[in-house]
Amino acid sequence: MSDLIGFQNVEPHFIELIRRAATDLPRDVEQAIASARDVERPMSAARNALDMLLINIRKARESSAPMCQDTGMNLWWVRYPAGPHERVLTTAIHAATVAATAKSYLRPNTVDSLSGHNDGTNLGEGAPQIHFHQWDEPVIKADLLLKGGGCENVSGQMSLPNAEIKAGRDLEGVKRAVIKMVLDAQGQGCAPGICGVAIGGDRAGGALAAKEQILRQLGDHNPDPRLAQLEAELMEACNGLQIGPMGFGGKTTVLGMKVTARHRLPASFFVSLAYECWSCRRWSVEIDVRTGVASFTETTHVAAEYMQHAARKAE
Ligand code: SF4
Repeated sequence: MSDLIGFQNVEPHFIELIRRAATDLPRDVEQAIASARDVERPMSAARNALDMLLINIRKARESSAPMCQDTGMNLWWVRYPAGPHERVLTTAIHAATVAATAKSYLRPNTVDSLSGHNDGTNLGEGAPQIHFHQWDEPVIKADLLLKGGGCENVSGQMSLPNAEIKAGRDLEGVKRAVIKMVLDAQGQGCAPGICGVAIGGDRAGGALAAKEQILRQLGDHNPDPRLAQLEAELMEACNGLQIGPMGFGGKTTVLGMKVTARHRLPASFFVSLAYECWSCRRWSVEIDVRTGVASFTETTHVAAEYMQHAARKAE
């Protein structure tokens, strides 16, 4: 147990973080869905679908109930002051997960892949996923993403070059790969989606980097002008596919396109797509370790740090 007061009572803050993530959609995502509804044709299936989502979002927030029956794979990114605190935080996250499941903020959603058994706790091998990073701030920052299974099923990864889609190892090839994966999804995974894309890395690193992109605010701008342009072009191209909300057809296939790049080996060129459904459940908490005071935000700090880092690189 740490002497720092902020480490001594983190579990209630983590339970509240789970509750908010599961029941309270970030306003930027809700606003994007409302704007998309307004551009779809009156009485169309697309518009009706988006109207239903907005009702669902409001009711979930008002009743503090999960906005989707699949409460997702729980992905945590935790920053904490250097020191022997990792086990304290792991224990608190596990306890908060069990408690949040008992309160029905989370569905019992974690299945033993070998036996098929679900023990109802949401704990298991690799569940929840926790990514720890030490830093010099006197603050614990936890970013939580609840990522649904349907949208995970239509996420993907391609290795370039790819002759079928005439994609080379360049940004035009990346564009073709992303469009191909969004086209293949055909609105499954509960479109309109938010696409996190990673160019490069190895298979595992690329997939994780793509997922981290989902933590970014929809309205932000990539500070690397090459990636900013790629994001804009991909948004236009994917919405031009006319797949629409839930695959009903329409102008809104994706709500956001967020791209990052990782160094790669000369032999490899992966394009990883983390497809996130409309139910983009991301929340953050900051806990001051000197006072124990917690504050919650819809904007994740992994995203903010990414943007600062990317801005420095682009200078
Ligand atoms: S993909 Fe998202 S919205 Fe669809 S069922 Fe899964 S969690 Fe729910």
